Amino acid sequence: MRVKITLACEECKQRNYNTMKNKKNNPERLELRKYCKFCRSHTLHKETK
Ligand SMILES: [Zn+2]
Repeated sequence: MRVKITLACEECKQRNYNTMKNKKNNPERLELRKYCKFCRSHTLHKETK
């Protein structure tokens, strides 16, 4: 059930993080506030397809 996902910054669309999620716990696309070094601030990061 654990799948690899990529998180991309919503501001600059850079893919900053690779992580794992549990499809059972998070069936929807994951959204997290994380630090983006390109924006130099915390931005919303969304799971890419
Ligand atoms: Zn960014």
